[in-house]
Amino acid sequence: MHILVTNDDGVDAPGLLALDQALRTVADTTLFAPSRNWSASGHVKTMHKPLRVGETRLADGTVALMTSGAPSDCVALAFLGMVEQPIDMVVSGINQGANLGHDVTYSGTVTAAMEGAIAGVPAIAVSLTSREATDFSFAARVAAQLAQAVAENGLPPQTLLNVDVPAVPEEEIAGLMVTRMGLRIYYDELIRRVDPRGRPYYWIGGPEPGGVLEEGTDLWAVAHNYVSVTPLQLDLTAHELIAQVKGWGLRK
Ligand code: MN
Repeated sequence: MHILVTNDDGVDAPGLLALDQALRTVADTTLFAPSRNWSASGHVKTMHKPLRVGETRLADGTVALMTSGAPSDCVALAFLGMVEQPIDMVVSGINQGANLGHDVTYSGTVTAAMEGAIAGVPAIAVSLTSREATDFSFAARVAAQLAQAVAENGLPPQTLLNVDVPAVPEEEIAGLMVTRMGLRIYYDELIRRVDPRGRPYYWIGGPEPGGVLEEGTDLWAVAHNYVSVTPLQLDLTAHELIAQVKGWGLRK
């Protein structure tokens, strides 16, 4: 098995190295990550500027490809021929910070995995639910176990797994729960400031997001110290709405 390993925190992020080291126990890996942090960049396809690709070495000496593009660009470039060895799976992470509920639509970590699903291979996104945590060892072992399970069982086309590991000591982990996407609640605030030339500028600020703690969701699982594994699909169709919208009597 040959796994393409990427992330959205950038090629120097410690979670990428931890993930790659764990995955190397179950597969061959190729690292291909963005040269800078692309957190919350969404699903990007860079089309209006060139993409640079270079080589770097991680802290343990492992060679990695890096690009000026986004996480999803890394995956696209790899499948378009920048990586010669056929790719069987994409694993993205380990992200520093949760990707729960609607976060998946903002997440560079998850959209890199989505790009893998679009390319036709199984994909896994892995996040540790703290921006400050530095011990990725448990999350990395979870990722390796899941990669092996996906290799053995497969995933249907156009699907992926979104995994969130609570940032608590391993002995406090309650178990692993297969979940559905929950509802995030964002507390974003508009921050207005004035630049040195007197012109206003803005930040989207505010406290960390919360969420609806409904049982069975990713948010509930992580709040109760379970590793959350959410199967996602690229088909975003609201199937139950098709009949209703047809009933509007729209004409050309
Ligand atoms: Mn990130």
